[in-house]
Amino acid sequence: MTYQQLGFILVLIVIFICIFIYCQCKPVTLQRTDYKDLWHKIFALATTLKKEIGSMQTANQIEINSHIIYPTKLVYSTYEFENIIRITSNAKKVNIKPYKIVWTTKGSMVEYRDNTLYIHNKVLGLYTQGDVMILAVHEILGHHIQENITTSHPMNIKEGCAMQCEHFVKEWGLERVQKKWVLMRCVRALIDLKIHHDDVTSLSIIEIWDMFPTSRMFTLDQIVNHSKKYPYVWTNYIYFEKKNFPDCFCT
Ligand SMILES: [Zn+2]
Repeated sequence: MTYQQLGFILVLIVIFICIFIYCQCKPVTLQRTDYKDLWHKIFALATTLKKEIGSMQTANQIEINSHIIYPTKLVYSTYEFENIIRITSNAKKVNIKPYKIVWTTKGSMVEYRDNTLYIHNKVLGLYTQGDVMILAVHEILGHHIQENITTSHPMNIKEGCAMQCEHFVKEWGLERVQKKWVLMRCVRALIDLKIHHDDVTSLSIIEIWDMFPTSRMFTLDQIVNHSKKYPYVWTNYIYFEKKNFPDCFCT
């Protein structure tokens, strides 16, 4: 072997070692395949929820502290809506600091911030009394109580806590309603991942939407528009197992 050939082989070895070291040191980022894995995990959860929801019933009437609630009845008035929020959040007999309810015609359907619950009037005629109960435990027992302890938690911790509180409605026999809301979050996240990573599935957005018709707390347009404006925001609402969330009344 000549010195030239030996030099050439040494250069190749050095290049190979450099490539190897570069690959080892590269920061770990979420690769496209991770999105695919996430998409399939959420899809599997959504499919299970759909099956469970199909085999469950929601009571037509329940009683909370002598108040009669009709979980399957649509809510058409702000008075009725606010009344159910207060009856439900007061049922846990926890000290709740004062909060305001403000009705709006713009922004999110329901949003809590600074001791105020902002509710879009589009929810009237769309949400049932059972859905309003979910909102009460999510927004008041979840967000309101946690944010009166600290406001510095990241979004996934805030939403995780609020969704943990949604499990309270099972005590009133509303497991089907609770699962419907989790399914809705799955559908939003599936559509979000499809929008930002088209190759996660061969299904179209419409096909994903049509597969889960019990998850209609939002319109498809609302989900798509919000997802385009705030990529991956819907994945903050996805949990595959029970967790403990800091400063959370429901943990
Ligand atoms: Zn929330």
